[in-house]
Amino acid sequence: MNKAARGKRIGIMGGSFNPIHYGHLMLAEQIRTQYALDKIIFIPVGIAAHKANNLRETRTERYHMTALAIESNPFFEVSNYELKREEISYSVETIRHLRQSLDASDSLYFITGADAIILLDSWYHSEELCQYVTFVAATRPGVDIEEFESKIEALHLKLNAKIEMCFIPALAISSTDIRTRVSEGKSIKYLLPESVEAYIYEKGLYRCDV
Ligand code: ATP
Ligand code: MG
Repeated sequence: MNKAARGKRIGIMGGSFNPIHYGHLMLAEQIRTQYALDKIIFIPVGIAAHKANNLRETRTERYHMTALAIESNPFFEVSNYELKREEISYSVETIRHLRQSLDASDSLYFITGADAIILLDSWYHSEELCQYVTFVAATRPGVDIEEFESKIEALHLKLNAKIEMCFIPALAISSTDIRTRVSEGKSIKYLLPESVEAYIYEKGLYRCDV
């Protein structure tokens, strides 16, 4: 079947990206190739419902870091859709908006790590979101595989969610750890792209913020 006949296969990678790191990039690239996706759109969250930190104030920086990090991958793009809105970002609203510009034959793959998907039933209007996307949930260091599997089964039953579980190489990298390292003057080299590392130092990000 050719691409036009099967519709586009689009990956969505949501996150704070505060900062973006190799855990995000490797996850996206693994899923892109495993699922033969035509592209992946990185959508940095604007104002997050679940996070108490200063995501709003770092909107511009998070956008720039994401753009720098994906520059070398022609299949990756970044959207400022959530960043430019003043309201709390809800995935269901972003995806509903995105679907309007797509054909019915196009499919959306919402990529997450295990820690994010296990909270799906607490997401705003998660049942509606499940109608629009297939979730691809990847293992992440620190998350128990058996618990992950039984949670996915429960979400499937409760929300009729289409969730595919994926095993990817384990990278125990998190944005929280990177912020802590910067604030403590520790090295972050090889945890994220050099361009993003340079940007963090140039702008003085995370010096006293964890
Ligand atoms: P923070 O520590 O601030 O929560 P984070 O490293 O978890 O940051 P997010 O921006 O919260 O990054 O994550 C965006 C998405 O990427 C989530 O679905 C998350 O599960 C996934 N993700 C982040 N890091 C990894 C990793 N190392 N391995 C697998 N998935 C990851
Ligand atoms: Mg996180």
